[in-house]
Amino acid sequence: MSAAIFADTPDSLSGPTLDPENWENLHTLAQEMTADMLQHLANIGDQPAWLKAPDSVKSRITTEPCPEQAASAEAVYKEFKELILPYTTGNIHPRFWGWVMGTGTPYAMLADMLASAINTHMGGFAQTPALVEEQVLRWLINMLKLPENTSGLLVSGATMASIIGLTVARNAKADIDVRKLGVQALKSPMVLYCSTETHSSLQKAVELLGLGSDALRKIPVDSNYRMDIKLLEKAIADDKAAGLKPFCVIGTAGTVGTATTDPLQEIAAICKKEDLWFHLDGAYGVLAAITDKYAHLVAGYELADSVAFDLHKWMYMPYEIGCVLIKDRTLQQDAFAITPSYLSTIPGGVGAEPMHFYNKGIELTRSFRALKVWFSLKIHGAKQFATLIERNINQAQYLSMCVQQHAKLELLAPTELNIVCFRYIGENVKQKDLNQLNQDILIAVQERGIAVPSHTYLNDQFAIRVSITNQRSQKEDFDVFLDEILALGQELANE
Ligand SMILES: *Cc1c(COP(=O)(O)O)cnc(C)c1O
Repeated sequence: MSAAIFADTPDSLSGPTLDPENWENLHTLAQEMTADMLQHLANIGDQPAWLKAPDSVKSRITTEPCPEQAASAEAVYKEFKELILPYTTGNIHPRFWGWVMGTGTPYAMLADMLASAINTHMGGFAQTPALVEEQVLRWLINMLKLPENTSGLLVSGATMASIIGLTVARNAKADIDVRKLGVQALKSPMVLYCSTETHSSLQKAVELLGLGSDALRKIPVDSNYRMDIKLLEKAIADDKAAGLKPFCVIGTAGTVGTATTDPLQEIAAICKKEDLWFHLDGAYGVLAAITDKYAHLVAGYELADSVAFDLHKWMYMPYEIGCVLIKDRTLQQDAFAITPSYLSTIPGGVGAEPMHFYNKGIELTRSFRALKVWFSLKIHGAKQFATLIERNINQAQYLSMCVQQHAKLELLAPTELNIVCFRYIGENVKQKDLNQLNQDILIAVQERGIAVPSHTYLNDQFAIRVSITNQRSQKEDFDVFLDEILALGQELANE
């Protein structure tokens, strides 16, 4: 094709891009955005803990067609401040203790911006960003006192981390080459075990692995919500007798309901005896291991073959970042490594190294999530994270003690780690009305923007559930919260 063909239409070959035409204007806007966001974070405690989005705002979003024409960045930013900024889940607030959410930090926010700016590809490529991810993994492995040669990968969250851990487990323990032949060729159906308190993400993982949710045996828990080891042993024996192939036990460090930790050492011993893989869901709980004071609460995590955990919960990183650690490097590679010609290495240039991250998990194109951890660990030091985690557990103990001391409140589960489950019982409230009353209290405390706990049912009792993975919470936040719960209880029970 000759260049002359295009001689009359140079505009079709060059022109405006997605970069600004006027960088100066963007500079001004970027400074405004940064200043606004830092101020937003600095004053977040003065804002309501949660603000319900009005229908008028929601409908503006749900009815807007795809914009064909350009608008000014300033106008779009104004819309962001109006439609989006006030109506989030609220989890950056010091009195947000719902589900298990993290707060993020301003430093990690800026690191995320830098990571987006350089937009480096983290499939592999042995440039310094890849070395930074390896370094961050090494730091995390050290913090958790796991063996130096443990293999790891940063992923979107604990769900993805468990999918990877269980894939390695399944492939390692299968009686056939499951990558090649698939689960339909298994000689004996594979089964695995968790407790009735295990997070739903593990069931999703098992379903995705093609094993079916029935293959995941949910072992009952004791009165402290810990997996009943006798029943685990019996289930394994029964399954073996029935010709099935037990291959894995999933233990949890910090259950989602009550922050309980399964008897990990006993699980590890059973796994050893029965030649089973030990996978740990340590989504937030395993990080208690980096504290001096509370590490014993999750003892035994270090015996797991694979550990899934999040940095966007109890390491307070902005979403999304989780991590999977696997003791056996080779097995992780065996489960995922694949090298098509277009990803093969050549002796120099950008493609000189194997796609080592891609070969350790599912995703090829990966973001530079490691950067925010790198910045954060350098800026704050690992010790500060241990202090904050320890403080969150202290706060749970404090709240739990206050609940136990107050005649109108009732603790519904032992407070072991960082979750407090309780309810308002008042003075003359009938037992049968307590679930409705506590649900009303929970909704009111959220909708009035006071605080955001979430809920769970414990023995069919509606529990107000305070789950503390919040680097901003202070003692006064819990005092305010309890005062408000007592006032709301009185108001809503008409006492
Ligand atoms: C949050 C959580 C998960 C799932 O983690 P994601 O990061 O949301 O994927 C799994 N297990 C427990 C105990 C959790 O708290």
